[in-house]
Amino acid sequence: MTDRIFDINGKVALVTGASSGIGTHFCKVLADSGAKVLACARRKDRLDSLVAEIQAAGGEAAAIVMDVTSRTSIKSAFDAAEAAFSTPDIICNNAGIAVQKSFVRMDEADWDSVVNTDLKAVFSVGQEAAQRLIAAGKPGSIINTASILGTGVLPELSAYSAAKAGVIQLTRSMALDLIRNKIRVNAICPGYFKTEMTEGFFSTPAGATYAQSLPSGRTGELEELSGALLLLASEASSYMSGSTITVDAAHSVRLS
Ligand code: NDP
Repeated sequence: MTDRIFDINGKVALVTGASSGIGTHFCKVLADSGAKVLACARRKDRLDSLVAEIQAAGGEAAAIVMDVTSRTSIKSAFDAAEAAFSTPDIICNNAGIAVQKSFVRMDEADWDSVVNTDLKAVFSVGQEAAQRLIAAGKPGSIINTASILGTGVLPELSAYSAAKAGVIQLTRSMALDLIRNKIRVNAICPGYFKTEMTEGFFSTPAGATYAQSLPSGRTGELEELSGALLLLASEASSYMSGSTITVDAAHSVRLS
């Protein structure tokens, strides 16, 4: 019973931001659980290596170039996804960037790049996915990667925090609008994980000290996101939509 409710065998899962960090991990977990994975990002060489690794482990995957800030690129990628497997029924909106600058120094280009990649893309990819699921008459699960910075803030991350707060609220709106189409929409709010986005900081002495100062005394391991992912991807969460799952080992509940 426990195994069955988490079953995603044969599902088609599209993951954005698949060329690195959390997205690469999501692709491996979904493939290892039997899903056919569509790994999407701009760096095709990275995607090709990931697909080769998944196939060598006995899984099914395809590499698809997608720039999440371009609607044309998103549409082409979904066409390629449908040609490779079929309409994706699990969609992970995970691509993201961060620009760390004080509020007064952040220029409009910084703001636009973060908000377009981290928030607008969740709308664009989510809408493309939902339209195709509805046209195909299929149920689906959309999983948005938000952040604990969508509710709390740290210095010099205004665009990122605003975008991630938007992702949480957009998740709720999408959930409400899509529930009668049997498309569930939920978000995962990770705490800190070492990836290309964060390693520049965590590889410094200040970063190591900061990691030790977290309630758990460490950053998360990517494997520690797998449970939340498989819960939301599978029928184990059939009555969950509009939820956010925080995976941060009590980081965001601490006041100082
Ligand atoms: P990485 O920097 O390791 O990965 C970011 C991914 O986003 C890459 O695969 C990159 O691919 C992709 N990406 C960026 N811009 C675009 C674009 N325009 N089109 C398509 N893909 C794009 O970061 P993480 O794995 O850490 O981040 C993944 C998600 O998790 C992000 O949304 C991030 O905000 C969130 N997050 C991360 C946390 C952490 O501690 N690491 C904490 C909380 C949230 P490419 O450049 O090849 O296109």
